[in-house]
Amino acid sequence: MSTLLTVAVFDGDGIGPEIMAPTVAILDQLQQRSEHYALEFEHLPAGAKHFAATGESLPAQSLESARSADAVLLSAMGLPDVRYKDGTEISPQIELRKAMNLFAGVRPVRIIHGQNTPLALTDLHAKNQVIDFVLIRESTEGLFHTQGVGEVTEDYATETLKITKHTSEKLFRFAFNLAEQRRANGRGPGKVTCVDKANVFRAFAFFRKLFDQEAKQHPQLKSDHAYVDATALWMVQKPWIFDVMVTENMFGDILSDLGAGLMGGLGLAPSADIGEHHAVFQPCHGSAPDIAGKNIANPFAMLLSAAMMLEWLAEQHPISALREDGQRLSNAVYKTLSEGTTITSDIGGKASTTQAADAVWKNL
Ligand code: ATP
Repeated sequence: MSTLLTVAVFDGDGIGPEIMAPTVAILDQLQQRSEHYALEFEHLPAGAKHFAATGESLPAQSLESARSADAVLLSAMGLPDVRYKDGTEISPQIELRKAMNLFAGVRPVRIIHGQNTPLALTDLHAKNQVIDFVLIRESTEGLFHTQGVGEVTEDYATETLKITKHTSEKLFRFAFNLAEQRRANGRGPGKVTCVDKANVFRAFAFFRKLFDQEAKQHPQLKSDHAYVDATALWMVQKPWIFDVMVTENMFGDILSDLGAGLMGGLGLAPSADIGEHHAVFQPCHGSAPDIAGKNIANPFAMLLSAAMMLEWLAEQHPISALREDGQRLSNAVYKTLSEGTTITSDIGGKASTTQAADAVWKNL
């Protein structure tokens, strides 16, 4: 029996449509070959280009369709020249995060042999270290609490950081469950690190206390804490010590770009924004208008995000073929990367977007 699942697709701005097209094509090939699931893609309007044409960045109908879909696949959105009246950029991805209460921003960082990382790989391989961790960024509160409504006067400006018990508890439960799942799949020792600044801010002492309470519910897993500044240092000096890290919104925003940097660039950094009932999968990078329309954008982050989507769908529906296809897709991207012959220029190759995506399909 085949289960039909709908995927809401936002093609995005700039390089968005260029990396989404081969991704949907590969997903479509996979579903056509599966006896266990079928995917139906619904392309929805939103984004900066749509705003420039209509005055709407995320039409109510698009939001409604995204809500009723089984998963949302979103490409890079926003254009530097298209802005709201207050000067901020069009970012329907942030609106979706809020509207669908997607509190857990999942940012995996994985470095394999042959990857163009700024780290000294020879050292790593001599030490036989594996770099494969996940940063979870709380995505609905923290320092983004007053986003767009911070107070600005002639003399000062303030923004408010907010940490709630309700969201933190959900977030920490999610982090521990992820560590458990990863360990079951042979990835990581089953450890969660709370990244905070509890030595300086009372709000972070509160965050840490809630983390410790959740840790007690998972005695089979390890837990520890790290200050955010030390974490930035260790992510560069000894990134292999991390398994699952969980942190506040702004800290997570910054550390996830550091994670992308370790992987060799934004073009390799996938992400998922996950809530209790919905999830959005998108690359970490923006719409890269400087290279749009040239067929040179790296499609790997988008493809890895699509692989995460298949694996998440497998959690929601008991269809192991979805998990297997997700893992196969992710392995095919990493195989293409380690071969190094058909990769895009941002990571040291010469291939076009289409050629890189075709190479992934061949490896699949
Ligand atoms: P945003 O604020 O929307 O995240 P940004 O201005 O910080 O966007 P990006 O649009 O992500 O940044 O682009 C940053 C740089 O990385 C640009 O030079 C861009 O060309 C490059 N870049 C981003 N994504 C890719 C990609 N998929 N392939 C190749 N280069 C990319």
